[in-house]
Amino acid sequence: MKATVESQRLLLDLNSIDQSVSKLDYQKKNHPQLMKITELTARVPSIEASIVENDSQITETKKEVSKAEIDVENISKRVQKDKERMSSSQTSAKDLTQIQHEIGTLESKQKELEEVQIEYLEKVEDLEHKKRGLQDILNQVKSEISVLNTSIKADFEKVNKEIATFATERQSVVGKVENELFKLYEKIRSEHGIGAGLFSHGTCKSCQIQISPLEINNINSTDLEEIVRCENCRCILVRN
Ligand SMILES: [Zn+2]
Repeated sequence: MKATVESQRLLLDLNSIDQSVSKLDYQKKNHPQLMKITELTARVPSIEASIVENDSQITETKKEVSKAEIDVENISKRVQKDKERMSSSQTSAKDLTQIQHEIGTLESKQKELEEVQIEYLEKVEDLEHKKRGLQDILNQVKSEISVLNTSIKADFEKVNKEIATFATERQSVVGKVENELFKLYEKIRSEHGIGAGLFSHGTCKSCQIQISPLEINNINSTDLEEIVRCENCRCILVRN
């Protein structure tokens, strides 16, 4: 393929613009805060799951508290009844001893259940304390994500503006390059990453590899309007 020397030189401008845009895209994709956001966002579901798990433990423990409460109440009612029976004039002496013994058993059982109830209440308190801690962590993580998002948004807007400026610049350069040459440049760029490089002192400035002496001779004897390509990276070599 042939193209004017002027068109070929414009490819270097185009390449420089494309490299700058690639760098900016890379910066966006590898923004350190973006990685931090990803890392923090990944933590959210596990914290939320812990809160749900903790909540169900609170519900279960509260049920145990209610159960113990009912048991205590029932025993207390039975004690009350026994006491009423004791004060009744119809109760025999033998029954009195039996009732007294029952009251003693019931009261020690009641004490036991009250202790169980206190244990469950303490457990609820601990779980609620844990819940507040988890909630604090979740809020902190979410707020960090939000702060990072705001700051990253500002950075991205700045980079996007630069990319837009390059796009306008590129458009004007593309307008001056011969169409067929531009098409070839784009094809090589999509296949190899870089479409054109300067050929200087026997080296391709795109891949930085020294061209073989035989190939240098070939290049030097080729018409300046003829398109030559790097034997290593396949980009269009633009001669000085
Ligand atoms: Zn090369």
